[in-house]
Amino acid sequence: MTTLIPHFIDGQRVEGTGEPTQDVFTPATGEVSAQVSLGGAERVAEAVESAQRAFQTWSTINPQRRGRILLEWVRLINENADELARSIAREHGKTVPDAHGDIQRGVEVVEFAAGAPHLLKGEFSSEVGRGVDVHSIRQPLGVVAGITPFNFPAMIPLWKAGCALAAGNTIVLKPSERDPSVPVRLAELAVEAGMPAGAVNVVNGGKDAVDALIEHEAVQAVAFVGSTPIAQSIYAHATSLGKRAQCFGGAKNHLVIMPDADLDQAADGLIGAAFGSAGERCMAISVAVPVGEETADKLVAKLQERMKDLTMGASDQEGADFGPVVTAQAKERIEGLIQAGVDEGADLLVDGRGATVEGHENGFYVGATLFDRVTADMRIYKEEIFGPVLCVLRAKDYEEALRLPSEHEFGNGVSIFTRDGDTARDFSTRVNVGMVGVNVPIPVPIAYYSFGGWKASGFGDLNQYGTDGLKFYTKTKTVTTRWPSGIRSGASFVMPEGS
Ligand code: NAD
Repeated sequence: MTTLIPHFIDGQRVEGTGEPTQDVFTPATGEVSAQVSLGGAERVAEAVESAQRAFQTWSTINPQRRGRILLEWVRLINENADELARSIAREHGKTVPDAHGDIQRGVEVVEFAAGAPHLLKGEFSSEVGRGVDVHSIRQPLGVVAGITPFNFPAMIPLWKAGCALAAGNTIVLKPSERDPSVPVRLAELAVEAGMPAGAVNVVNGGKDAVDALIEHEAVQAVAFVGSTPIAQSIYAHATSLGKRAQCFGGAKNHLVIMPDADLDQAADGLIGAAFGSAGERCMAISVAVPVGEETADKLVAKLQERMKDLTMGASDQEGADFGPVVTAQAKERIEGLIQAGVDEGADLLVDGRGATVEGHENGFYVGATLFDRVTADMRIYKEEIFGPVLCVLRAKDYEEALRLPSEHEFGNGVSIFTRDGDTARDFSTRVNVGMVGVNVPIPVPIAYYSFGGWKASGFGDLNQYGTDGLKFYTKTKTVTTRWPSGIRSGASFVMPEGS
C-alpha cells in the first residue's frame, strides 16, 4: 500500500479522504513512492479559517518572543536535517549533500527574520507642527498564502514562512505536488517549536487549491514562485482582487567570460552552476558567453575535459555530482529541447540523452549536455530548459556580451568572470538583470539582502526575504498625534504648515 501524503492543518496531519490524489515519484528509480492528496476549495477554507484563528494569538505575541520561537524552529529543523534532506533527495532527485544546502539556505532566512524586533521598527518624527508628533507602525496583514515550486521544497517555503511569521502573519502554504513531504514536516516542526496550531498550514494540491487560496477573501497576500506563465497569471489574478502579490518566474542565466578571466575558475564555476541539481535551479547558469573566439575555444576545451569527470548518480549515491530530473515528463521535455537545438544547427558537443545509471535504469536521468555555437534565435537559447544543458553562445566583443542577458526575456541572475574591475563595475551597473555575480557563478544573495529577478523573472515590486520580505508582509500605519492641550485655542480650518 502506498503512503498518502496528507495536508497539515490546525496543528495536525489531515488525511485528504475522498479527495483526488496524484503519484509522487522517486526520480532516482522511477518508482511511485507515495500519493499526495489534492485539496480543493473546502480544504483551503478549512486551512484559512484555522490560520485566521491562529492570527488572533500569533500577531499579539511580542516580536521578540516570536523571534525566539522562530529560532527554536531553526533548531528543530537542524536537528532533523538528515531526515529532511533524505526526504528531499527521494522526492526531488537532488543529491543528499545538495538537499542539505536546500535546507540551509532556507534556515538562514528564518534566522534573519528572527531579528523582527529590529526589522519591524517604525519611524518617529517629533514636533512636525506645534505639539504634533508623527510615528509609523508596521502591522501584519493577516493570513497570507505561499505557493511554491518543486525545485527547492525546503528553501522556498522557509523564505515565505520565515518573513511572514516574523511579521506576525499566519500562512497557508501550497507546495509543489511533486515533492510535498518536506513542507508538511516543516509545518509540523513549527508547532513543535511553539507556534500556535494554524500559524503554518499546508494544503497540498494543484490549480484548484491555488485558485481557492487566491480567491478566499481572508487571504491578504499571495507570494508565488514557479514558472513564468503561472507567475504572470497568478499575479494578474491576485492583483485583480486587490491583493498584494509577488510572483517570481523562470530564468535563463548567462555567465560572461572575458578574455582576461581565469579560465580554469570560470570552467569550474560553470560546471557546478550548469549541472548541479541537474540544472533544476532558478539560478543555474544555462548560457556561457565567452568573449572572442580564442576565449571560446579555450573555454569549450576546458568544459569538455571537466565533463568527462562528472558523475551522475542516484540521489543517495556517494560521490554523485548530480542526480535525475524530477519527472519522466521533465526528461522528455529536456530531451526534446536538445533535439530542437540539433535541428536548429547548434553544435552538440556532449549529448546527455539516453544516459543511464546502473541499477536504476528506470530513473529520470539526463546526462550533462553541452552545445556550442548557439545563436540568439534558437529555442535552446530563448526558452528555459531547466535541465543539465549548457549552451555556449560566442560573443564577438564585450558590448555584445552585455546586450545578450540585458535583452533576454528573463532577467533573474547573471555573472561575469574577469580580472578587470572597471569592466566588472560597468557590467554590474548596466546589465538589465536583477542579481549579478562578479567571479561568482551563482549570485544568490545572502538572507539579509534580497532575492528577485527582473523582466519575465519577477512580477511585483518587492523582492523575497531581506528587508523587502518584511515590507511585503506588513502594512504601514501612520499616526499623527497631538495631545488635548494642543487644541485649546479651538478648531482650525486651514492646513497646518508645520510650524
Ligand atoms: P510551476 O509553475 O509548474 O509550479 C509552481 C507552483 O504553481 C506549484 O505549487 C504548482 O502546483 C502551482 N501550479 C502549477 N500550475 C498551476 C496553474 N495552472 N495554476 C495555479 N497554480 C499552478 O513551477 P515548477 O515546475 O514547480 O518550478 C520550476 C520553475 O520555478 C522554473 O521555471 C524555475 O525557474 C522557477 N523558479 C523560480 C524561482 C525564482 O525565485 N525566480 C525560484 C525557484 C524556481
